[in-house]
Amino acid sequence: MGGAPARTGPAIVLGHVDFGERDRIVRLLSPDHGRVACLARGARGSRRRFVGALDLGNRVQATLRPGRGELWHLDEAVLEDGRTGARQDLLRLSLLAYAVELCGGLAREHQPEPRLYGLLDMACLLLDAMTAAPGAAFRAGLEAKALTFAGLAPTLARCAACGEALLPGEELAFEPHKGGATHRACSPGLPPVPAAWAAAVEAARRAPLRELIDLPLPPGPGWALAEMVEGHLGRPLQSRRLLAALLEPATPSPDLR
Ligand SMILES: [Zn+2]
Repeated sequence: MGGAPARTGPAIVLGHVDFGERDRIVRLLSPDHGRVACLARGARGSRRRFVGALDLGNRVQATLRPGRGELWHLDEAVLEDGRTGARQDLLRLSLLAYAVELCGGLAREHQPEPRLYGLLDMACLLLDAMTAAPGAAFRAGLEAKALTFAGLAPTLARCAACGEALLPGEELAFEPHKGGATHRACSPGLPPVPAAWAAAVEAARRAPLRELIDLPLPPGPGWALAEMVEGHLGRPLQSRRLLAALLEPATPSPDLR
């Protein structure tokens, strides 16, 4: 037969779809190979080599074999961490799905992505261990770090339009397609964004994720970084709507129904 040898290593399950009567196509994030789509033969049938392993966000030891094209083969997936704590609570589960979509979406295919992998695994570990919902700085830090590790670091300390430093107390705006915060005078017509919000998000971007669990965030455009990610991906983040509805139950987005 020949072909490339199988290699075993850690990976996080980004999702899967059924394929045919017996198989599944599984998307994984691996530190060494980035985002990989692979065919798991028999995963719908015997399930022996995949039992309980293919749920979203799980960390597995994956035995991967390169295929002819983009689609690799998943010969075996052994569950390492099923994130059972995070699955006890709808908000934490929604945050886990959001972290998976964020880091998985920004990861390149078939390129090493150790930092996005490490960030996603850390986010899942922390969500699993929490006993209550995290403060808003946790999600902002996650978004800002994921963008940074994808080479798209948001500009929060300088104006993304003119390049001058943003000073405390200044009235700012945010332009996702320009890559970050701007002087409001540099972005006429946009709503104001408090400088304290931009400073807090920049601090969250630089702090370890575990230090952000209990931190709130000053008022600001709560989905500005998500919009940067969506602009880069060219599509909406599917997990954002449920998360938004859970975080802001008094004002669900009108298109949720
Ligand atoms: Zn400016």
